[in-house]
Amino acid sequence: MSKITIAIDGYSSTGKSTVAKQLAKQLGYVYVDTGAMYRAVTYYAMQNGLISETDFNKEALIYQLNKINISFEFNDGLGFAEVYLNNENIEKQIRTLEVSGFVSQVAAVSEVRQKLVEQQQQMGEARGVVMDGRDIGTVVFPKAELKLFMTASAETRAERRYNELIERGDQVVYNDVLKNVLERDYLDTHRKDSPLIKAEDAIEIDNSKLSLDEQFNKVLQLVKMTIEDCE
Ligand code: C5P
Repeated sequence: MSKITIAIDGYSSTGKSTVAKQLAKQLGYVYVDTGAMYRAVTYYAMQNGLISETDFNKEALIYQLNKINISFEFNDGLGFAEVYLNNENIEKQIRTLEVSGFVSQVAAVSEVRQKLVEQQQQMGEARGVVMDGRDIGTVVFPKAELKLFMTASAETRAERRYNELIERGDQVVYNDVLKNVLERDYLDTHRKDSPLIKAEDAIEIDNSKLSLDEQFNKVLQLVKMTIEDCE
């Protein structure tokens, strides 16, 4: 069976990673969470005093980019690859609302994007990859055989993210989570470099009213049809 590249893009908290992980497991593909990479750079900037509520020292971040090494290591127990920053597992640290509050500013820096896109393209070179993010179908793999664009209402997405954060034990307020989702939507769709847009040949999936099983079955059907077309 030929291996394809699956690009999943969409707004924040549309369940991209959930469906990407399910697909990777079912197909034996590699899953790459590119949002985790932008979050890792953001975490580095926070730890090194380069970004705060009042200030973002872009130049210093760009200068220090060669000190940032991002890698993934598969965790058998979890069933997906966790992200490492300079050999430190930072999977938990990057999922906070604080990191979410800064990440879209960091992701708007072209030099950051250039570095991460290059690494993403290398990771997907061998095909058999499911990659999720904001620019996978438009910039990272414009020739991906299957492109999905996920959407859901802002309220549905904020509720999902809020529940995730509460489950982790984070003290958050729903309105702050909704505000962050809306802010990131705005910044991600309005930045100059690689803004979030639906690729012309992407298939849109609004999962506001789909159960996880319904969504997975729908997507798996699309994957099977695409693989058949490629053979
Ligand atoms: O997917 P996730 O919500 O973890 O992504 C965090 C942020 O990283 C996004 O809001 C966006 O600013 C940035 N991002 C991006 N391009 C990608 C993936 C994520 O700009 N391919």
